[in-house]
Amino acid sequence: MRFDILTIFPSIFDSYFNESILKRAQKRRLVKIAVHNLRDFTTDKHHKVDDSPYGGGPGMVFKVEPIYRAVERIKKYEVRSKHKKNRVILFSTRGKKLDAKMAKRLSKYDQLILICGRYEGVDERVAKYIADEEISIGDYVLSGGELPAMVLVEAVSRHIPGVLGKRESLEEIKGSYPVYTRPEIFKSKVKNQKSKIWKVPKVLLSGNHKEIQKWRELRE
Ligand code: SAH
Repeated sequence: MRFDILTIFPSIFDSYFNESILKRAQKRRLVKIAVHNLRDFTTDKHHKVDDSPYGGGPGMVFKVEPIYRAVERIKKYEVRSKHKKNRVILFSTRGKKLDAKMAKRLSKYDQLILICGRYEGVDERVAKYIADEEISIGDYVLSGGELPAMVLVEAVSRHIPGVLGKRESLEEIKGSYPVYTRPEIFKSKVKNQKSKIWKVPKVLLSGNHKEIQKWRELRE
């Protein structure tokens, strides 16, 4: 599966995608993540990606032309590598909210093209004519679509067979049970304070798998 991210801040992605599960997934060629600088798709000498909004109001708006040009070009990489199903996604506060079901659905595509907005947003023609869908990651406003893109890439990748190793689990929609690890009893004593003694629930130490299972199901 291929992710193509369109952004004016490509270096934001360097550290996150080069650690842990996503690093391994790329190394094993289960996912390819390509980050594109929107400025590379401008044609004027100042590489202008934004302009002021029609009708007035604060802030700047991403122009449609560089995004159009970028998406057309990026879709062609897809042809070259014989990819079949693609989906163009625009991050927007007005979009449909990302959840596990949506992540699973998106994991069935061969190529996701992710458009990260900034400033006041993106010329509405991108949502109307270029993007297949608009996605929000939650009811709050961020400064750009870069964090949403990282969230989506990770949430979707976890559904791709082989991305999670044997020791990692995909909890999907249900949520998970509480977990504990050593020590059995955590103690902390600070002068003039009541000492803290925090214990692991006894049932988890019992070795009784039936009881452990029951305890976990109750807490899910
Ligand atoms: N004035 C706009 C805010 C734009 S924020 C509004 O109220 O909708 C700038 C960009 O950040 C957006 O175009 C979008 O791409 C991204 N963004 C901000 N918050 C987001 C969220 N919760 N989910 C997805 N994208 C978001």
